[in-house]
Order: sequence, then structure tokens, then C-alpha cells
Amino acid sequence: MRKEIKTLQDIDAASFTFENLRWKYGVFRPMSSGAGRNKKHWGWCGVVTALGEVEEKVWYQLTEQLIKNAGEQQLLAHLIEWESECGYTKSSSDEVRKEAIHLHVSRIFDDPEWIHYLPFNKRYRPEIWEAAHIVYVRNECCQKVSAVTQEQIDRSSYSIIYCPHCGRWSRFTILGRRVKPEGPNPCLDCDCYDPDMGCTMPGIDKSYACPLEAPNGGQRRASDA
Ligand SMILES: [Zn+2]
Repeated sequence: MRKEIKTLQDIDAASFTFENLRWKYGVFRPMSSGAGRNKKHWGWCGVVTALGEVEEKVWYQLTEQLIKNAGEQQLLAHLIEWESECGYTKSSSDEVRKEAIHLHVSRIFDDPEWIHYLPFNKRYRPEIWEAAHIVYVRNECCQKVSAVTQEQIDRSSYSIIYCPHCGRWSRFTILGRRVKPEGPNPCLDCDCYDPDMGCTMPGIDKSYACPLEAPNGGQRRASDA
């Protein structure tokens, strides 16, 4: 049987990491005691992690402690805010907090494949957003320009990608890549001005359609591939 973790004391300090406490899957064990008509039944909800099995409520205590140790309470607060605005508007605040802890422990904000990687980090961790490999694409669904990460494109299955405008997954055309260093999307209010991203005019059109110069050297494919 797997090791069961009951308290923080069951974990040595070096193993007390996000990686080790990542939620692999939940388990439910039906429990019973006594016999006959006095027999009692209940369930034990646990979480399987790299270190062993942890009772669910202990898992939340441990991971909250981990977040505190890392000085990341503010980041958790940001995730909670983000989730309550974007994902789980109908959930109770307790459910949103739990979901945010899951996301936090899995370090989702560091994963460029996360569909909210760019808007989340632009809002809360601009230095991460500045360093991101941004590609401008046009999704077939909305025909609007949006920014995604190179990693999202590299991992796209069946040539479809998440559309930040409508939330559908659809085929896309690559318009251009953000070239660094670059200011925060300078734009002189052309048709492709987006309040969130600034100018999203594909570089190939920018020279005549947006008064600002296109970033140098960006690879562009304007085909309808
Ligand atoms: Zn769309």
C-alpha cells in the first residue's frame, strides 16, 4: 500500500515541493466500522501525489502552507481573482479557491501552453508576458487577430488552436511573430487596435495600414494555410 501522509511531519523538508504535491488523481475509499445494524459507513477522500496518499483536506492545508513558504500568496490571490472572473463565475468562493490551489500547485501560470498564459501574465506578471514568444494568428471561427504563444502553436493538435475571442478551438493562420525587444505593442489606433494587446495588425499589413512600422525580421506567412 502507498505511503499515507497525515501531517507535515510525514514529509521531509527537501521533499516538500510543488512538484511532489501535485494532484495526480483523487481516490475514494469506502470505510466502515462496527457490525450488523450498528455498522457505520463513510468515505475517505484522498489525493494521490508523488509522495503518497494525502487526505484531501490535509492536501489543501499542505499546499496552502507550501504557497505561503514560497511567498506566493499574492499569486494565489491573482489566480483566485482570475478564476472567479473567467472560469468559475457560478462556483462558490470556496470552490474557486480550491480550483485556484490546484492550478497553483501545477504551476499553470508558468506553462506557455496554458490558454490564459498571455492574458493572465500580462495582467499580473508583466515580466513573464514581456519574455513570452508571442505569435499573432487569425482563427477561422472569429476571423479576429489574437495573440497566442509559440508553444501553443507547437503543440496544437489537428492544426487547431484555442481562440481567445470566442473560446472555440479552430484552425488558424499565422500572421506574424512579436519580435523582441519591442515596446508594449505600440499602436496609433489603427483598425487592429485591441485594448488588451495594443496593435495586433499583422506585420505584413502594418506598413500601410498602421502608421507604425512593422517589427523587423518577423517571420510571416500570410497564406491561408
Ligand atoms: Zn473565435
